[in-house]
Amino acid sequence: NLRKSLPLSSPFHNSSLNCSIKAIDLFDEKLKKLIDEKISEPENSLELIFANVLKKEKLREVRGENLEKIELTEDQIQEIEEKFLCRISKMPTQYILKEWEFRDLKLNMKIPVFIPRPETEELVELISQKLSPKKNYKILEIGCGSGCISLSLLNEHEAIDEIIAVDQSKSACELTLENAKKLDLSHRLKVCKHKLENDGLLPTDIVPLDLKFDLIISNPPYVPSKDSLKLQPEIYLYEDIRALDGGKEGLDVINSLLNLSANYLKPKGSLWLEIDDRHPEIIAKIVENNAEKWNLKFMSTYKDIFKKNRFVEIEKC
Ligand code: GLN
Repeated sequence: NLRKSLPLSSPFHNSSLNCSIKAIDLFDEKLKKLIDEKISEPENSLELIFANVLKKEKLREVRGENLEKIELTEDQIQEIEEKFLCRISKMPTQYILKEWEFRDLKLNMKIPVFIPRPETEELVELISQKLSPKKNYKILEIGCGSGCISLSLLNEHEAIDEIIAVDQSKSACELTLENAKKLDLSHRLKVCKHKLENDGLLPTDIVPLDLKFDLIISNPPYVPSKDSLKLQPEIYLYEDIRALDGGKEGLDVINSLLNLSANYLKPKGSLWLEIDDRHPEIIAKIVENNAEKWNLKFMSTYKDIFKKNRFVEIEKC
């Protein structure tokens, strides 16, 4: 695929040709190739690449008439070629651009750290609406990835005292910290590399013995293993599968998170999870069956913009 699409035959390849090239012509040529190779979201990917290379804030600046007015420099052509080659190899656009917006933040993106999905912005919205400006919240996030959830909450709520963000992946921890520093949000954040075990106990250098949380939040891996084989190539070729594959039924990490919440939530504290739409009833049942041991109560299920059950809230009694 890559070979076939090398731009050697492109009329734009020979940069020694000292003629100016209109952005619209290069755009149309590349778009046709992306469509021929059945790359998903071809037009949007290309608009994002052009906007990035041409340093335009708004996508409409690289559409229609606007694209016709732009003449490309040799450097810009080369940079577009490089990014186009990544996209035709199915690299997610977020990794090509090396940054992505999440709520009010622009976060750095790095292979293979999980790319934030729009649904997760809704999870942050749901949690945000419940926070009061008066309390001093202590929050624990498991599986922080790029840091999108923790950093958005810190950015939007002065009332948060501290967030401890945990991830099993070294690259994810590094990226969360990098984003925290870039956005000047690192002073209320502690990032720890750790793989959550089934007993839901954390080492005391991460969570001191007497520390309990108002909120535990996670967008855990929840895709059942058999479905993870059917994910888009963009996902399985480039993203850390540990952020997606949740074991046989997609519930492995969720079970550990329930144990964790029983151990570390304050009374009336809550666990917020992003989940698969087949999970809420099963999770409610597990919580009910372990009510005596855990002292947890299943509170609510919330739908995402696509009307799918996507989030659950569980409270410590
Ligand atoms: N909704 C996600 C996806 O398909 C799954 C994320 C997750 O397992 N946390 O891409």
